Amino acid sequence: MRNYLKHYINGEWIESTGSETEEVINPATEEVIGKISFGTKEDLDKAVRAAQDALPAFSQTSKEERIEMLEKIAAEYERRKDDLIEVMTDELGAPLSISEKVHYKMGYSHFSQAAESLKNFSFMEQRGNHTLVKESVGVSGLITPWNFPTNQTSTKIASAFAAGSPVVLKPSELTPFAAMILAEIFDEVGVPKGVFNLVNGAGDVIGDGISSHPDIDFVSFTGSVGVGQKIMENAAKTIKNVALELGGKSPLIVLEDADLEQAARSAVTHISMNTGQVCSAATRIIVPASIKSSFEDAVEQVLPEFPVGDPRKESVVGPLVSKKQWDRVQSYIEKGIEEGATLITGGAGKPEGLDKGYFVKPTVFSDVKNDMVIAREEIFGPVMSIITYETLDEAIEIANDTVYGLAGYVVGKDPELLRKAATSIRAGRITINDKGKDFSAPFGGYKQSGIGREWGDFGIEEYLEKKAILGFPS
Ligand code: NAD
Repeated sequence: MRNYLKHYINGEWIESTGSETEEVINPATEEVIGKISFGTKEDLDKAVRAAQDALPAFSQTSKEERIEMLEKIAAEYERRKDDLIEVMTDELGAPLSISEKVHYKMGYSHFSQAAESLKNFSFMEQRGNHTLVKESVGVSGLITPWNFPTNQTSTKIASAFAAGSPVVLKPSELTPFAAMILAEIFDEVGVPKGVFNLVNGAGDVIGDGISSHPDIDFVSFTGSVGVGQKIMENAAKTIKNVALELGGKSPLIVLEDADLEQAARSAVTHISMNTGQVCSAATRIIVPASIKSSFEDAVEQVLPEFPVGDPRKESVVGPLVSKKQWDRVQSYIEKGIEEGATLITGGAGKPEGLDKGYFVKPTVFSDVKNDMVIAREEIFGPVMSIITYETLDEAIEIANDTVYGLAGYVVGKDPELLRKAATSIRAGRITINDKGKDFSAPFGGYKQSGIGREWGDFGIEEYLEKKAILGFPS
């Protein structure tokens, strides 16, 4: 049992002022694995005061001091590797190999990348006769979701620390333990008191409290569009800066000359990775009508490489995070059938032999029209929609016919067509033929996928104000 009943405020673990607690469930076993305390507005006020008090000194630390701090954090994070991997398998249901190769690694990469980005970062430069000074945005409130417990938290914290901005974090109540380990890491390396504060709690209490708090200068939120809208509304009252990383319904365009096996593997990886609970996953696979049936065959051939099962064993696809999420995905699968899409594989209900745990059958729909609900709304589960096109212009039109714009993918060979597709998709991140990630490139969305960019120096900029000084003595 992991019972973390305290909040981390001003460099100390302190009791909650409220008595409400929340159980954390392992989604693979449906068993309770621990408890957290739900904080109160009073706890949040304490955390904000601690961050305010830490601001003057922390914002004046030198770039070199902050690089050293981030490097120490990365080293301690590495030392806690086994704990972090275990905890994300327990609270999220991520298969051990995914916990290690994706979740653990992304968290590490953000701390090391922030240290690296800082080395060439300039906090002061000349603009004509003005001196441009970049200084801390102030106290930053961070609200994170459950689907990447160390990635979402670490990218925000690393950027804030790099910029000299103290933070108050509210992690997701579904996956709070990885964030608690981060607090232990910061404590161990001696992050100054008040620079990192963590208050657990419900979204509508602590999350809402952060976005409406008059003494929080900036809010960085990752989560659903609906909550993002509430955060903007709250932030508007005090004209608070916001960064929002929201949902997606990303397209993958398969070109006519694509290697079909590669394209199918890419599409299946998107719905399998993290059980499809990835904001940037490609869930609308846009294929030429002429190769539709060979593509469907290729998808069916590749699917067995992604077995669903116990995340502690050899499985590649674990359960969904919660019963609520399981119910939601089931209702979308039922909706797809009702809307007249062709069910190629999968479907409603649990996979055979997996009655316990929130497991779902990876599901592939074909003959999907882009105006069907399953092609418009973010399902956040292993559900693929295959949509056909006749010309590349039509494929691009379908790709862009969405309120989202987080990511886009293209698989194929012809450089001219690849360039055309990549530059025409309106989204913040385009991947051609599945190249690996680089954490110095920005991550964020167009349209309703969000505001702002995270990762590397783009992430650091979010936590800085820009001041132009005329006549600054040199
Ligand atoms: P969510 O919006 O329900 O919750 C996210 C966080 O917001 C949680 O910590 C939650 O407690 C808090 N919250 C809930 N109500 C709140 C309120 N009224 N005020 C302030 N905070 C509140 O999202 P989720 O279900 O945890 O995560 C899934 C969503 O996150 C998906 O839509 C997914 O696309 C999105 N997401 C986006 C990205 C990205 O980078 N663009 C990354 C991961 C997930």
